[in-house]
Amino acid sequence: MTVCVLHAAAEMFPLLKTGGLADVVGALPLAQSQLGTDARVVLPGFPAVLAGLADLEPVADLGGAFGAGNVRLERGVLPPHGVVVYVVRADVFYDRPGNPYLDAAHRPYADNDRRFALLGWAAARIATGADPTWKPHIVHAHDWHAGLAPAYLRAFERGGAPRTASVITVHNLAYQGTFAASEFGALQLPGDFYAVEGVEFYGLVSFLKAGLYYADRITTVSPTYAREIQTQAHGAGLHGLLQTRTHDITGILNGVDYSIWSPSVDDSIAAKYTASKVAGKSKCKAALQERMGLARDDDALLFGVVSRLTEQKGLDLLLSAVPDIVQRGGQLVVLGTGDPALETGMKNAAAAHPGAVAVELGFDETLSHLIIAGSDIVMVPSRFEPCGLTQLYALAYGAPPLVHRVGGLADTVVDSSLENLADELATGFVFDTFDRAGIVGAIRRAFALKARRTDWKAVVKRAMGQSFSWEAAALRYAEVYQGLTGR
Ligand code: ADP
Repeated sequence: MTVCVLHAAAEMFPLLKTGGLADVVGALPLAQSQLGTDARVVLPGFPAVLAGLADLEPVADLGGAFGAGNVRLERGVLPPHGVVVYVVRADVFYDRPGNPYLDAAHRPYADNDRRFALLGWAAARIATGADPTWKPHIVHAHDWHAGLAPAYLRAFERGGAPRTASVITVHNLAYQGTFAASEFGALQLPGDFYAVEGVEFYGLVSFLKAGLYYADRITTVSPTYAREIQTQAHGAGLHGLLQTRTHDITGILNGVDYSIWSPSVDDSIAAKYTASKVAGKSKCKAALQERMGLARDDDALLFGVVSRLTEQKGLDLLLSAVPDIVQRGGQLVVLGTGDPALETGMKNAAAAHPGAVAVELGFDETLSHLIIAGSDIVMVPSRFEPCGLTQLYALAYGAPPLVHRVGGLADTVVDSSLENLADELATGFVFDTFDRAGIVGAIRRAFALKARRTDWKAVVKRAMGQSFSWEAAALRYAEVYQGLTGR
């Protein structure tokens, strides 16, 4: 019998994206449906979500909840593949312009607890029959935004509803959705759920902890991150709980949607290319240099960055190494948005090295493709990285990634050490210690390899030959579901 899964998430590419979560929610349900799973998605009714769906129709009136006025459930499909998407219509909560989480001053909305409690609650309502024509066997919650879904399922069960299994996927443990304990009363959960064995976390309400506590299974987006989050160093205060659930935790590497991220089909780049006919990549490099105001020099080793500018991404470390790139004749292009201090640091680096360092602040899907295609090397020097998609895209576009050996970066990039070159394994540059010496050492190895034409070409070709398919990931998720449903 077909397994029915409802993904509950805040973002889905191409409707709405602020990071890798959207890429996953945009690709995984489709890969699952291609394997025969009936995978659907429930999203908050943000304006961009409503605008991007086709055939929206009302499904149910969910009544008043969380002070959002009358909440309605609608259902549409996402073109062109037709994944079914439920939308929680509560315009008081979601009809706000710009970022889904932050107000115009970049502060989290004061009612984020109720805005995202509603998402989890609506998922649980769908699981308990809100759509008379469809019910999931499994609710699959993503990140803290949907973290309360497993808690509401338990609460509804206590009220007599049949049991629905739940899974939570942690895309980033650093974002926990914590709120003042005084807000608990507004969440419509049984009073005893506010407990250490429940949603309480050091005197606060934690949506992510709720998910980790109440979900039947926990997954995260790479095997190494699955191990790391169970340690004090990387557990963000949740390692104790995660250790108690160690047998329920699985690390499943994200895939790449190669219909979007492949230089052989990418219409946004200057010239298409493949691993066997890589000449177009030089055209992409020249176009990028032109577009960003860098010196037109095919020999300059061009490092690219596409990233949220946050502490996590290690770009402060990169800034300390900019002179090491420039002095060797290299170039750096950065696309990112985020922390004002990092934005200023990037702008200052560009001003200090005109023609060699170029920075664009903002979120620009098309430019992100131009950078991945036009760069010789893509840098992802994150302090921690649950999976990381940028380095996977970089591999596909023959831009060997330069990464810190952590989380999903450690699982997906093989350093160009002499032994890995000899064993024909190398796909990029990996540094172990998160300090200036570490990143500068990797940068120097990159320049050294570029000077060895044959080895460089072999690494580029091998990088392009890596495959991280969503089908493989979907098969692993199917195993997790099977453990819960027997199907
Ligand atoms: P995270 O989810 O932590 O931001 P990932 O590497 O998993 O990191 O995913 C980041 C995704 O967001 C990638 O698809 C990347 O290309 C994209 N991205 C990040 N910053 C920008 C930006 N400024 N403009 C366009 N795309 C961006």
